[in-house]
Amino acid sequence: MDNKKVIIIGAGVSGLVAAINLENEGIHPIIYDKNDRVGGRVQTDYIDGQAFDKGFQILLPNYPAVQKYLDVRLLHLKYFASGAFVFKKGYQSKLGNPAKGFDLLFSTLFSKLASFSDKLKIIKLYRSLKYKSFEEIFESPSQSTMSYLKSFGFSNKVIHNFFRPFYAGVFLEENLETSSRMFEFTFKLFSESKAGIPEKGIQAIPNQLANQLKKTTFHFNTAINKVEDKTIWLSNGSKEKADFIIIATEPSQLITNLNNQQSLWKSVDNLYFEVKNRVVNLPMIALIAENDTFVNNFHYASLASESQQILSVSVVKTHDLSREELVKKVKNELYDICDIEVKKLLKHYKIPKALPQIHDLNYQMPHTETKIKDNIYLAGDVLSNGSLNAAMLNGESAAKALIEQYNGLTLDMA
Ligand SMILES: Cc1cc2nc3c(=O)[nH]c(=O)nc-3n(C[C@H](O)[C@H](O)[C@H](O)COP(=O)(O)OP(=O)(O)OC[C@H]3O[C@@H](n4cnc5c(N)ncnc54)[C@H](O)[C@@H]3O)c2cc1C
Repeated sequence: MDNKKVIIIGAGVSGLVAAINLENEGIHPIIYDKNDRVGGRVQTDYIDGQAFDKGFQILLPNYPAVQKYLDVRLLHLKYFASGAFVFKKGYQSKLGNPAKGFDLLFSTLFSKLASFSDKLKIIKLYRSLKYKSFEEIFESPSQSTMSYLKSFGFSNKVIHNFFRPFYAGVFLEENLETSSRMFEFTFKLFSESKAGIPEKGIQAIPNQLANQLKKTTFHFNTAINKVEDKTIWLSNGSKEKADFIIIATEPSQLITNLNNQQSLWKSVDNLYFEVKNRVVNLPMIALIAENDTFVNNFHYASLASESQQILSVSVVKTHDLSREELVKKVKNELYDICDIEVKKLLKHYKIPKALPQIHDLNYQMPHTETKIKDNIYLAGDVLSNGSLNAAMLNGESAAKALIEQYNGLTLDMA
């Protein structure tokens, strides 16, 4: 069934999952990507044996799409303990879901970061989401996460000390304006499974997807400028015709009449430092719960046993500081609030397009809605919500729609 030419633009996880689904139907797609490798926003640089993920990103193994497309065992995830280690000036404590495990029960119950009533509400929220399906979550009325937390009855204290810094790091925005659907979705996932990073870095995820592809052709370092009439225009001026095209990235840059519908994006800075000391001995995400700090969260990218201690720091706050100014601010905050002494900066990634800002979030784009023009389909997280789960599911949706039309055409020809 490989006599028709199918082109996919984008070798991110969405384009790769689309290709897996096409190969399963005997179609051999051709993927173009402007980058030099697979992964899109999921990338790792390897320097002297150390993995530097381009942006702090975690895998929730209970994402339904992950269970479908990845062999999680082979990723050898390094799991984080659930909850977070919270730093405030002169105070530090662990906080998590007390219903989730003995390790966190006592520290959470005795933590001064939340009232007793807040701790009971965390359990109530966990129970209320336990039997709510992901589809139901994304069909629920949407409000900002901040107003959701307030209307659930959480105190300003726990919002300030835990929810705001934790979810600022997840949503990559400080005011928790992101839809309550995304909050319920991620809260449920976090409370039902630990999050982890593959031993070889986050790039192991797209690499594993790409390794499943046996009949797909890749063209890297090849930007596409325009898609029109089943034709793609390459940045070198040449063009390629196809029978079907899947655009697995923001489409507005490629399709002329979508030019005015560009996505808005949330940004993040990710800095890696070699540090002198280790102040969190558990594998745990640490947060700074102070107003107006640049550091939102950090974790040790190295194991306690390793001689070089590497700290990965995320800055969610939008700013126009130079690298030097930002590094100075971050170093001071790490020292003043967390007692961490920085030896030197190892890496700095500025990621202007990290997560799409989507107003009306959905769980997965129905396959019947992925077709944008004759024989042209859309995929990518930008259609639904900024997550690996949505990126994979939308790759699947686009492929499914294409396969249905492909099969229809093949039948017509017979
Ligand atoms: C810092 C950061 C933290 C994140 N944290 C998490 C997290 O913890 N958990 C989670 O689930 N998700 C997280 N995400 C989101 C997740 O990475 C994305 O949802 C997912 O990778 C999107 O995949 P995609 O294939 O839809 O898009 P992309 O990864 O953006 O892939 C699009 C591809 O298209 C290519 N492309 C674009 N334009 C062109 C062109 N004109 N010509 C040729 N090629 C082109 C790009 O090079 C890219 O490879 C995070 C993302 C970032 C950046």
